[in-house]
Amino acid sequence: MTSTTAPHAVIGAGIAGLACARALADAGRDVVVLDKARGPGGRMSSRRLGETAIELGAQGFRASHPAFRAEVDAWRRAGVAAPWPAALWRLEDGRPRRRTDGRPRFTGRPRMSAVTRHLATGLDLRPGTRVEALRRAAEGWRLVDAAGEVHGPFATVVLALPAPQAGRLVAPHDPGLAAACRAVPQRACWAAWARLEAPLALPGAEADWPLLELETGPLRRVIRHGSKPGRAARPELLTLLADLDWSERHLEAAPEAMADGLLEALAAALPDVALPRVRARGAHRWRYAEPAAIPPGEDFRLGERGLALCGDGWRGARIEDAWLSGHHLGEALCHRPPEPLAEIPRP
Ligand SMILES: Cc1cc2nc3c(=O)[nH]c(=O)nc-3n(C[C@H](O)[C@H](O)[C@H](O)COP(=O)(O)OP(=O)(O)OC[C@H]3O[C@@H](n4cnc5c(N)ncnc54)[C@H](O)[C@@H]3O)c2cc1C
Repeated sequence: MTSTTAPHAVIGAGIAGLACARALADAGRDVVVLDKARGPGGRMSSRRLGETAIELGAQGFRASHPAFRAEVDAWRRAGVAAPWPAALWRLEDGRPRRRTDGRPRFTGRPRMSAVTRHLATGLDLRPGTRVEALRRAAEGWRLVDAAGEVHGPFATVVLALPAPQAGRLVAPHDPGLAAACRAVPQRACWAAWARLEAPLALPGAEADWPLLELETGPLRRVIRHGSKPGRAARPELLTLLADLDWSERHLEAAPEAMADGLLEALAAALPDVALPRVRARGAHRWRYAEPAAIPPGEDFRLGERGLALCGDGWRGARIEDAWLSGHHLGEALCHRPPEPLAEIPRP
């Protein structure tokens, strides 16, 4: 198969990369998406645990910007997103208090990765492809993966990755983009999961309370998976999200020790509650969980000779920000005339 216009490559099939790829594909552009993981999703991915799936990254999202609201409406029509949670609880002075700001929130249905799988439908997605180097050639960019396979040529390469990861790939080719990436360090976060043998009751809260925020200590959030739409997580499956400072102090610790530490923190935060017995537990370390700082300016970066950056680091630490960053970059690339190439084999 041959093409007379150069295809675009998007490295990273998280929400930003997929939003960018969709904007390009919907405008009729040829686009290839590469991701090192087994499927799309990135920090929105879901992990299988027996019969169910659990999120150890993003749990839900809000939609404020009109473009993202319209996108979420489309996800809801497609059945891959639904409202959640109905109420939030916050532990204040040791007591759970109901907290609501009246703003709707959503999550993926039946799991968060349903959203990113939906977005990836129809795209040329190459999972299990860790890009290790970019090579500039006369006919465009070539991407070298961890298996030594070479992909391309591509007219543009979008790096939809946490900035430290993007910075390493662009550094040999675009000092300006590399410097921009150095200004967006990422914080780390431990996320544990625990299966309990009975539901966890929260004094004063409804039996199906969905989410508890904590003010201090190593534990900052407890999420009950059975409260999410379309889940079967009985009797109790929890995600425990750690405080970022605590996570960074224990960056190299063993996952089981982190899960135990967060369960101990939960027990200490609820001294009047008998914690049900833990049947199984584990933890995942997000090395690049969220940007420490957001640089001023546009919510994406266009560099030299067709390199570009998008992702939450360029706009804000939320799904909505990441989607908007990728979407805006895709639109910007669509408005640039496609770079014609001589007849080249499609990568
Ligand atoms: C613990 C946690 C909880 C969160 N909770 C929420 C929440 O409740 N609500 C909310 O709105 N946001 C939340 N967030 C933030 C949200 O998940 C992110 O803002 C968003 O998912 C970022 O999307 P992204 O596409 O920019 O990056 P990512 O999702 O990180 O996507 C980057 C992709 O690049 C791939 N990749 C990396 N390097 C390479 C390479 N060399 N070659 C190929 N592929 C590569 C990765 O596999 C990944 O799929 C949370 C994040 C974390 C970590």
